[in-house]
Amino acid sequence: MYKICVFPGDGIGVEVSEQAVKIIRKLGEVYHLVFEIDEALIGGVAVDRWGVPMTPEVLKLAQGSDAVFLGAVGGPKWDSLDSSIRPERALLELRKGLQVFANLRPVRMFPSLVGNSPLKEEIVRGVDFLILRELIGGIYFGDMRGIEDIPGGGQKGINTEVYTTGEVDRIARKAFEFARRRKKKVTSVDKANILESSQLWRKVVTDVHRSYPDIQLEHRYVDDCAMQLIRDPKQFDVIVTTNMFGDILSDESAMLTGSIGMLPSASLGDHHALYEPVHGSAPDIAGQNKGNPIAAILSVAMMMEYSFHLLELTQAVERAVEQTLADGYRTADIYQPGMCAVSCSEMGDLVASKIKA
Ligand code: NAD
Repeated sequence: MYKICVFPGDGIGVEVSEQAVKIIRKLGEVYHLVFEIDEALIGGVAVDRWGVPMTPEVLKLAQGSDAVFLGAVGGPKWDSLDSSIRPERALLELRKGLQVFANLRPVRMFPSLVGNSPLKEEIVRGVDFLILRELIGGIYFGDMRGIEDIPGGGQKGINTEVYTTGEVDRIARKAFEFARRRKKKVTSVDKANILESSQLWRKVVTDVHRSYPDIQLEHRYVDDCAMQLIRDPKQFDVIVTTNMFGDILSDESAMLTGSIGMLPSASLGDHHALYEPVHGSAPDIAGQNKGNPIAAILSVAMMMEYSFHLLELTQAVERAVEQTLADGYRTADIYQPGMCAVSCSEMGDLVASKIKA
């Protein structure tokens, strides 16, 4: 029996999580496995209920599960709250509480969606790389932070980027290990020409590389990498980078595939794992059954592989997604004339119906 904790969260998080759960239940049925699912509130809904974005009990529930699935949190309703109780705080607390330091964001072009990319077909056809983002360090977690008054007038906002040798070492090792199972190339992304934290990052990645002589390593500055992702994305295999750079580069990469609604993620630590679509709560389309659930569904595929080592189930989900797209079904974000427009829940039903052992 596999114990899964599901946090639907806010906005379209709720709608796409429903589809993810539908897929988990279908997998259970088809493969005769028992997936026990516990749902709980985090994010804006938790602020409304308890006054905090995540309670200690909810974190314990997550820590006691075999895998955690999260929809998305946040929305304009909570934007004016103090940053200590904003819904997005739950994301940071959950990632830290589960100690999931390695965030995997695979960027893969589905052949039937090549026409949806804003880039030319010859640039995006065959794109297949992995962004490995450090998730529980860097500027999002630096202790020295806040907004302070400046004597004499005005204020200053402060955040600090801190990386230790140990933090860089463990994510670099993961990058080389994933590259070993792929095309054996790692691109480490930093801003070592300006930032001391990046200089340490580059040194540690270079040191760790000595244990992986079979893997090619290159270093790129983040501004150059942002440009290369548009110019020639097929040059990349595994990109390893800091928390903030990974956050930004993965949204940019999402657009290669046509929509952020297509990108899944897995966040792995030594003892826990968290799976979530890369997108946010999409307040502009929330409550309309319009969101693309494929990122959430592919996050379930990653859960089957990384938490449960059920590769056959991963492949079954990926095949079902591919087939649904090849049959011409599209949610609004990936719609093109001549295709069959479907809602979020219809897309979930279609993918579920195509899951076969
Ligand atoms: P967003 O990802 O929610 O939306 C950006 C754009 O992409 C919107 O136009 C939206 O409609 C579209 N979009 C996103 N997901 C989609 C999907 N599955 N199908 C179709 N279209 C989709 O980013 P944002 O607007 O910057 O943030 C909205 C809220 O979400 C904010 O409160 C933000 O803090 C939060 N957020 C949460 C997470 C998370 O929970 N992991 C991540 C990013 C942003």
